[in-house]
Amino acid sequence: MNLFEIKGLYKCYNTKAKPKVYAVHDLHLTVKKGEILGLVGESGCGKSTLGKMLLKLEQPTRGRIIFNQQDITDYSFSQMRKIRNRMQMIFQGNANAFNPYFTVEQIISEPLNNYSYETPAAKREKIVAMLEQVGLNQTYLNRYGHEMSGGQRQRVGIARALILQPEFAVCDEAVSSIDYALKNQILTLLTGLKQQLGLTYLFISHDIAAVNRICDRVVVMYLGNIVEIIPNINDQAQHPYTKALLAATLVPDPRKREKSRVLFKEAEELKIPEKGCVFQNRCLYAQAVCKAEQPALVSKDSEHYIACHLCHPH
Ligand code: SF4
Repeated sequence: MNLFEIKGLYKCYNTKAKPKVYAVHDLHLTVKKGEILGLVGESGCGKSTLGKMLLKLEQPTRGRIIFNQQDITDYSFSQMRKIRNRMQMIFQGNANAFNPYFTVEQIISEPLNNYSYETPAAKREKIVAMLEQVGLNQTYLNRYGHEMSGGQRQRVGIARALILQPEFAVCDEAVSSIDYALKNQILTLLTGLKQQLGLTYLFISHDIAAVNRICDRVVVMYLGNIVEIIPNINDQAQHPYTKALLAATLVPDPRKREKSRVLFKEAEELKIPEKGCVFQNRCLYAQAVCKAEQPALVSKDSEHYIACHLCHPH
C-alpha cells in the first residue's frame, strides 16, 4: 500500500530563467506505508526540496502529490492544516535548531498547542511519555537547548516531531554532524519508534552507511533526477554515479577513499546538460548515446530501477 504517489514532479525556483534550471525534474516515485525510504546524493541534488514538497512546505512547479489516495498538490493552507499533524519533519539536532529561550517542554508543546485542545496537565503527561519514548525523562522538561548534548537535542527534536503521532516523517540529515556512537543510538531509536508507532520515513542523508543500515529502499538523486532506486545500495548498486558515491563513502581507509574519487570526473560547475544523461559530464563511461538521449528509469528487476544506457544496452 502506498502512502505517497509522486507523479511527474518538478521544482523550478526561477521560472523566468532560460534555459530553466530544475531543482527537481520529472520525478515519479512511491513511498510505501511502513517503509524507510532513503534519499541520497550530493548537496544540491534536490533531496531536501523533494522532502519539503512532500510536506507541502514548498509548492511544486508541476506534477502531482498523492497522500493516502488524496491529491494534496493544490491544497490550501487551511486544507493542509487538517492533515499537517500526520506528516512531520525531523531536523538535525544542532544548537541552532531550537529557540534558545524555550525550554524542552515549550519546544515539544509547540505542535500540541497548534493542533490539540487538551488541558495543560494532559499535554504535560503526553510530553513526559514522549520524552521517555526517546530515551529522556521529565528532568529534561525545564532545560534549554544549550544545556544539552547534541544527542539529547536530537532526541528532543524527534520527540517534537512525533508528539502529534504522525504517520509520516521526513528525517532531513537527522544523523549528520554527530559522532559514530551517537549516530548508532539515534538510528536504533528511529527504527524502534518506527516499529512502535507504525511510522513511514523519508530518510534524507548524505551518509551512505547510515542509509545502508536502516533503509528498505534507497533513491539516488543527481541534479534533480532519480538515477537509481535500489533495495540494497551496498550489494546491488549499478548506476555509475551510485557506485562512485558508495566507493567515496564506504571505504574505511581515507587514503583509498581519496583515490576512489577518480570514479567520477570533478566538474567545476554542476550544470544540467540540455539533453542526454544528466550525469554525462562526470561519467567515466559516457558514450555518444549518453549525450544524445536521456536514459529512462527502467526496472532491472522488481524493486530495482536504473537510468543508464550502459545498464540497459540498446
Ligand atoms: Fe554514464 Fe551514459 Fe550511464 Fe549516464 S547513461 S551514467 S553518461 S554510462
